[in-house]
Amino acid sequence: MACPEAMGGGGASIYEQSLVYEELGWGSSGLALSLVVSQIPFLALSAHASADLQDQYLRPYLEDRQAEFIGCYPVTEPAHGSDLFFIGNPVHGGRSEWSLARLNYETNAYLDERRNEWVINGQKAQWITNTSIATHAFVLAALQAGGSAGFLVPLSTAGVERGVALEKLGQREMNQAGISFKDVRIPYDHMLIGPGDYQRFISNAFGNAYILIGAVCVGIARAALEEAVAFCKARVQGGARLVEHQDVQRRLMDLFAEVELMRAYIRSLARYHSDAAKTRLMHYSAVARGHVSKQAFKVCSDALDLFGHVGFSKGVLIEKLYRDARMTRMMGGAGTVAQLRAAQEFFS
Ligand SMILES: Cc1cc2nc3c(=O)[nH]c(=O)nc-3n(C[C@H](O)[C@H](O)[C@H](O)COP(=O)(O)OP(=O)(O)OC[C@H]3O[C@@H](n4cnc5c(N)ncnc54)[C@H](O)[C@@H]3O)c2cc1C
Repeated sequence: MACPEAMGGGGASIYEQSLVYEELGWGSSGLALSLVVSQIPFLALSAHASADLQDQYLRPYLEDRQAEFIGCYPVTEPAHGSDLFFIGNPVHGGRSEWSLARLNYETNAYLDERRNEWVINGQKAQWITNTSIATHAFVLAALQAGGSAGFLVPLSTAGVERGVALEKLGQREMNQAGISFKDVRIPYDHMLIGPGDYQRFISNAFGNAYILIGAVCVGIARAALEEAVAFCKARVQGGARLVEHQDVQRRLMDLFAEVELMRAYIRSLARYHSDAAKTRLMHYSAVARGHVSKQAFKVCSDALDLFGHVGFSKGVLIEKLYRDARMTRMMGGAGTVAQLRAAQEFFS
């Protein structure tokens, strides 16, 4: 959907993508977010690879109709989580120059000049989306020569090891597992992002991903509202349907207003970012995603209250939506820390 039309992709603007992701999020936020992540290696190829490399990987991906190409994006590590926002970034209130200089991925790469290959070593966290089912990764790592970079790694390469999928609180349709690299060798041109482009890449990648995560949150909240309305229309208690109580109507209209506001917020941001002439504003996306994910959880929680004891039962959709909404607060970095990163841009 997001790859340029000239290459055979859908050429959808971030605004058009956000409309699709709201619908997908309404149906299954886990599947929707799995798709957001799956495209990352291929989007990096579409923007940063040679024509030869695009022929090798991107064309077959764009022609794939059987999900034979699935991407993952290993960034976080056992000892690096939210701080990924600050890697290679010179401004971070509260941290000394000394600690900033030491901040980088433990996963590292060096160039074997004799064979013209990058050699990658290191371990990523247990929480890398799609990992146990993915075919290709876009791995962020430290260069032994200095700086950070992004590498395309076909996961059939020798030395790649993957864990089994985690059992988790919500979004269980989305696969999460660990991944490690032991002397993994890839050709020189598989480094798609070098240290010079790294900050710009991170800003754009998170700026766009946050809009899509926000759209998925709108979908979750809308589903919760619809479930609550349907339940309140059907449930008879004390001789009246719940929806006949004026206070229940007020609570439903509060949820309705919240969903409308979330949607308007994300759509206006997506519309702004769809205009290629405008500067990408990462802090707007980070703050929007932080706010909207918090509101999605609040809408699900308030909707769940309307179900009485029924809402706590397994197999009732509102219970799943509540768990799913909770997960969106942490994906792509803790919401609170993403806002600290946004503050850097806002106040600099
Ligand atoms: C559904 C889901 C999907 C994910 N998919 C991926 C993926 O595809 N690829 C990937 O690389 N990772 C993925 N992750 C991992 C995710 O990026 C991390 O969970 C996130 O970056 C937070 O890191 P952490 O879990 O180590 O928490 P930590 O960074 O250790 O944070 C723990 C707590 O400390 C607070 N905190 C941390 N730093 C600061 C600070 N500087 N100031 C104030 N408070 C702070 C945080 O707000 C949080 O409450 C995924 C996570 C989830 C939940």
